[in-house]
Amino acid sequence: MTRTADVAIVGGGVNGCSIAYRLAKAGKKVVLCEKGDFAAGATGSCDQMVILQSKNPGIHLKLALDSAELFQTLAQELDYDIEYFRHGGMITIENEMEMDVMTDFVAKQKKIGLEVDIISREEASKRQRGLGEHLLGCTYSAQDGHVNPFKLNMGFAQAAKKAGAELLIDAEVTDFKMAGGKVVGIKTAKGDVDAETVVLAAGAWSPLLGQKLGMKLPIKPRRGQIIVSQPCAPYIVGDILSAQYIVAKYHPETLLNAKSRGIQLGVGLAISQTARGGILIGATREFVDYDVSNTREGIREILKNAARLMPGLKNLNIIRVMGGVRPYTPDGLPLVGCVKGMDGLFMAAGHEGDGIALSAVTGKIVAGLICEGKAYTDVSALDPNRFELFAK
Ligand SMILES: Cc1cc2nc3c(=O)[nH]c(=O)nc-3n(C[C@H](O)[C@H](O)[C@H](O)COP(=O)(O)OP(=O)(O)OC[C@H]3O[C@@H](n4cnc5c(N)ncnc54)[C@H](O)[C@@H]3O)c2cc1C
Repeated sequence: MTRTADVAIVGGGVNGCSIAYRLAKAGKKVVLCEKGDFAAGATGSCDQMVILQSKNPGIHLKLALDSAELFQTLAQELDYDIEYFRHGGMITIENEMEMDVMTDFVAKQKKIGLEVDIISREEASKRQRGLGEHLLGCTYSAQDGHVNPFKLNMGFAQAAKKAGAELLIDAEVTDFKMAGGKVVGIKTAKGDVDAETVVLAAGAWSPLLGQKLGMKLPIKPRRGQIIVSQPCAPYIVGDILSAQYIVAKYHPETLLNAKSRGIQLGVGLAISQTARGGILIGATREFVDYDVSNTREGIREILKNAARLMPGLKNLNIIRVMGGVRPYTPDGLPLVGCVKGMDGLFMAAGHEGDGIALSAVTGKIVAGLICEGKAYTDVSALDPNRFELFAK
């Protein structure tokens, strides 16, 4: 069976479904094809932070602020309880080097419009019990929040269906259909889809599909291991990150020569508590291809790190661990837009560790570009053509 659509979307993660929703709402005939099930990729194995403080000052933070604004009314809009809460967030600072980095980071973020400050350890302890005595201080922003990623993915999917999109699961995209050098559709396990535009939103798997078009996408899978505790009474207030997380995220080169195994594994603390009481403790940042298994070493290093920064968590029981692959890009920004030399193809992948936070705005940007030829704001920094996409 061959389906026809204005837009065919590859990938049913949070970004594919957000895009499907916005496009269908704008009146486009949409068919989305997902290899497994919704939230089968990174979206189903991640933290829950819609955190602004971790974003690089510039377009990255601006988009995160815009996305966070959309989150405020998203549950009503989707008619789905996505468990979004704006409880604020802190970044722990352990030493003078981190204090210097964060002082500079915070000053730049304030200029972009984020309400964020450095607070003393005493002030931080009034907001959050269990913090390490050795901390020099924390950054704090009331604008940080979190959301249930799984529910968010399902909320977008359900709203997309209601708006008329067809969403196929167990529908692996195996190849692209070409005519006159242009992408004109996809071949899937559930039949072909002919489409004017194909949106590649397959997260960390996008390069595998790009290869079929002779493309060398600069997206790499970056594993994150994460721990889930038994449910407990409300303990963690908002989101907590460590400054070490910021270093691991934006300066991976500094990890290579580090002496500590935890630092080599890119461990940066990320803690928050779910609506059901489980405490999420993450995460590593490792380049190990598509291996999403957990390692004793990774879990041990995350726990060691958490116990140092938040000794109050020491007696927590763990009920499970999981691993997922973030779609890493060299400059930390996703690839969103048309591809020069490959008419008919539209990229929307590479959100690294921010794809949940940026999902709301990603759908809006893609719908703007496809339906009106322009986004609501300047997104030239996301242009996929900033990279050499075709092997010479
Ligand atoms: C440990 C960890 C913690 C994280 N914490 C946060 C956080 O707190 N906040 C935040 O904003 N982000 C976080 N992230 C990042 C976030 O999870 C990702 O950026 C986001 O989920 C990416 O969404 P996506 O829809 O682009 O990709 P994915 O969710 O990976 O979806 C891609 C989909 O494409 C499908 N697919 C692949 N190949 C094919 C094919 N051939 N045909 C059809 N479908 C295909 C996959 O099955 C998958 O469902 C974290 C990630 C990890 C691993």
